[in-house]
Amino acid sequence: MKAIVIGAGLGGLLSAARLSGEGWEVEVFERLPFIGGRFTNIPYHGFQLSTGALHMIPHGPSGPLARLLRDVGADVEIVRSKPTAVIRVPRKKGDRDYKFGHKDILFQDFKVPFSLVNRLKLVYYIISTRKNPPKGISFAQWCTDHIDQDWTHRISDSFFGWALSLRAADVPVEEAFEIIENLYRYGGSGVPMGGCKGVTDALVKVINSNGGVIHTSSEVTSIAAGAADATKAGSVIVCGTEHAADIIISDIGHESTATLLQGFEADRKLQDYTRTAGELKPSAGIKICLSSDKPLIGHGGVMLTPYAKRVNGINEVTNIDPGLAPSGKHLTMSHQCVRWEDLDKLDKEIELGLEDLRDIFAGKDYEVLLIQSYSDGWPVNRSPSGADLKNRTPVSNLFIVGDGAKGRGGIEVEGVALGVEHTMKEILG
Ligand code: FAD
Repeated sequence: MKAIVIGAGLGGLLSAARLSGEGWEVEVFERLPFIGGRFTNIPYHGFQLSTGALHMIPHGPSGPLARLLRDVGADVEIVRSKPTAVIRVPRKKGDRDYKFGHKDILFQDFKVPFSLVNRLKLVYYIISTRKNPPKGISFAQWCTDHIDQDWTHRISDSFFGWALSLRAADVPVEEAFEIIENLYRYGGSGVPMGGCKGVTDALVKVINSNGGVIHTSSEVTSIAAGAADATKAGSVIVCGTEHAADIIISDIGHESTATLLQGFEADRKLQDYTRTAGELKPSAGIKICLSSDKPLIGHGGVMLTPYAKRVNGINEVTNIDPGLAPSGKHLTMSHQCVRWEDLDKLDKEIELGLEDLRDIFAGKDYEVLLIQSYSDGWPVNRSPSGADLKNRTPVSNLFIVGDGAKGRGGIEVEGVALGVEHTMKEILG
C-alpha cells in the first residue's frame, strides 16, 4: 500500500512515521525548501528561534504528542517545566496593570484572587461540570453567567490567548472544559530538548529508517480523482508529474486541500464540504523573541500575563534547554493573540505588545531579536480550536491531519497528535 503525504509539518511527519512503521510505502511532498512547517527552528546568531511554536509541548512528557512520538519510535526528550505556569499579577490589590510593580503566583493558586463567594462557586462548578459539561455558548459567556468577576475574564483571556491564540469569547465552552479536563489528565507543559526541531528531526530519522521519502521544494498543485473510480483520489500532481497512491493524507488543512481537488464529481457532499472548509477562520498571533544576559523569568514554565494590554503569556525555554541560545544568553518569547478584527492593524498590535514587555520587564535589560506575526496561510492555528472539522473528507481515501483537524480538547500540537492518532485508527483499523 502506498500513502502520499502533502506537507512536512508536524501532522504530516507524524502520519508518515506511523504508516512507514507499519510497512507502507510513504512519500511526503513539502513545498518549502525545509522540513517541519511551523514546528522547526530558525538559527539566528546562535539562537534557535522558530518558524512558529514557542518550543513548548502543552502536556509535556505525558501528553498525546509524547505518547505518539514514543509509539512511532522517535527519540525525543521532553522535560516537564517546573513550575509549569505562573501568573503575573500587580503587586498591589486593585492595580490594573504592572506599572507599579508585580508578583508571580503559581497557576494552581489562580483561585486566590476570586472573592470568597466565587471561590465557593468555583469548587461547586469544578465538581458539577465534570458530570454535566456545559454546551452551546462561549467560555466567556459561561463565565459571565456563572462567575462574573474581572479576574475570571482576565485569566481566561490570558490562558486561551496563550494556549489557543483565541479570546475566551471565541472558545466554545465544550472545548474549554475538555481542555481543562486534559490539563488534569495529562499535566502541564514541557520543553523538547533541541526545541521544535528536536521533535521534527527525530521524526525525519524514523521516516528515513523505515524507507519513507521526503521531497522538499515540491509543491502539490492538485489532487486528481482516480481514473477507475471518480469518488476516490488517485494521485497528486507535483511540478507537472503525476504520483499515484492508495491513500492521500493532507497536512495543509481542509480549505487548502479542497482547492486542490480536480476531476471529482461535484456532488452535494463535496460542495457542502468545500463551503464549510472555506468558512474556517485561522487564529492569528504575534510572537516577540527577546535575548538577555540574565534570566527575565527564571524558570522554564509559562508566565501568564492577565494584566497586560496585549501579551497573553511569556516563556523562557533556555532555563530548560540552554542550547537554544548562545552560551550565557537567554531566549524569552512572548505570545499575543490577534483578534480577527485587528488583523489590518498589526503594527499597532506589535507596538502594544512591545509596550507590555517594557512594563513587565521594567528595569531589566533585554534586546528584541525578532517579531513575527502569524495569520492566513501561516497562522497560529488553521482551524480555531473547537471548530475543527473531522479527519475524513467526502473523498473516502483522502484524510486531513495537522492543526486544521485537531482532536477535541487538544491544545495545539497535542490536538495535532490526537488527530493523527484518530486518522491512523481509521486507516489501519
Ligand atoms: P504546518 O506546520 O503548517 O505544516 C504544513 C506544511 O505543509 C508546511 O510545511 C507547508 O509549507 C506545507 N504545504 C502547504 N501547502 C503545500 C502544498 N500544496 N504542497 C506541499 N506542501 C505544502 N504549538 C504548541 O504545541 N506549542 C507551542 O508553543 C506553540 N506555539 C505557537 C506559536 C506560534 C506563534 C504559532 C504560529 C504556532 C504555535 N503552535 C504551538 C502551534 C504549532 O506550531 C502548530 O500546531 C503545528 O506546528 C502545526 O503543524 P501542521 O503540521 O498542522 O502544519
